Amino acid sequence: MGWWTIDHTHEPNASSWVEGADGHPEFPVQNLPFGLFSNGFAAPRVGVAIGGFVFDLAGAARAGLFPDLPWLEDVAEERLNELLAMGEHARVALRHALFALLTDSARAETASAFLLPVAEVELHLPCDVGNYTDFYAGIHHATRIGKLFRPDNPLTPNYKHVPIGYHGRASSVVLSGTNIVRPQGQLPGTDGPRFGPSERLDLELELGVWIGPGNDLGHPVPIAEAHEQIAGFCLLNDWSARDVQAWEYQPLGPFLAKSFATSVSAWIVTPEALAPFRGPAFPRAAGEPRPLPYLRDEADERHGGLRLTLGVWLQTRAMREAGLPEVRLSGGSSEALYWTVQQMVAHHTVGGCNLRPGDLFGTGTISGEAQGSEGSLLELTEGGQKPVALPNGEERRFLLDGDRLRISARAQAPGFAAIGFGECVGEIIG
Ligand code: CA
Repeated sequence: MGWWTIDHTHEPNASSWVEGADGHPEFPVQNLPFGLFSNGFAAPRVGVAIGGFVFDLAGAARAGLFPDLPWLEDVAEERLNELLAMGEHARVALRHALFALLTDSARAETASAFLLPVAEVELHLPCDVGNYTDFYAGIHHATRIGKLFRPDNPLTPNYKHVPIGYHGRASSVVLSGTNIVRPQGQLPGTDGPRFGPSERLDLELELGVWIGPGNDLGHPVPIAEAHEQIAGFCLLNDWSARDVQAWEYQPLGPFLAKSFATSVSAWIVTPEALAPFRGPAFPRAAGEPRPLPYLRDEADERHGGLRLTLGVWLQTRAMREAGLPEVRLSGGSSEALYWTVQQMVAHHTVGGCNLRPGDLFGTGTISGEAQGSEGSLLELTEGGQKPVALPNGEERRFLLDGDRLRISARAQAPGFAAIGFGECVGEIIG
């Protein structure tokens, strides 16, 4: 038994009585992600995505549909911090209870009263985000960015020893669908800085990680227990103003270049749902440094990696006005993460830092090695030098007003039902 365990809830032929759930590209009964929703004047509460519906978990708990989970009624009426804080054991019990309910046609009549079409509800940011930390674990991203500055030695000497990150801004984490206002700031110029709207607005394709129970100040989380702190995953777009960043980043790293908005997708996909899509951690070649002991764990090396396919899609204003669909800009695989999420937790806490329920991590930009798998325009256009040609004749070096960006992720493996994450979208407004 471990956090990568496959059980009956991953059975590919499992069938739900919820219309359209079987074979749903993102939310079949094998997924069951949590989100925060409201309808009408009711306060936001916890729901579960199933097919094209939201299952009102709070309402169902109140109506007594989960008699074996007496704690559920209280936590389902709150932001998801409370449920995430319950930890792995409670989350697995809830997954099993939900799976039993949504696959048992004898209970369809009772439970279907708590299904709402997703188009009829409003989704909210799932947690009160206390802290947001962004890592830099995408090794091909780090290499390509490094090459722009240090062609012969792109990776900094610390990269393969320490999971690099910075403390981001939690207050500007926004839900998918929120418009992104182009930031103004100090831009580098030949005669000193200018002030104005960023001219090099970029995206960063990342996974978000929602933290569960948390740890006490001064009590590091050992790597072997780090999985207990990981409550779920989402899509994350770390919008970045490259010109602001280039001028301000030395010597303390990103500041205003990244604090104007960070978009996350609405649904929290659990580690249990992702169990079939686990694999080994990033392979260290012979001669590469072994991680220090506090970052090393046999189970993490064998199962700590994630096998997700990510994509970036763009629809410009001109495309929208002409009725043209979005186009795929790029996309890669989460196998490009040099550090596992467990290693990020162990490292984040090793000095004594406390994590709290609802804290958010970004993995760092996920880029593949090959052309066409870059997770940012900075890489895709080589620092803005080689514009991307779009099918309607437009081109992009960086994002323009009216551009609508969507990122997606899909988990797929032979013998299992594929699952998705929903969408993480944002439109740039001036
Ligand atoms: Ca980032």
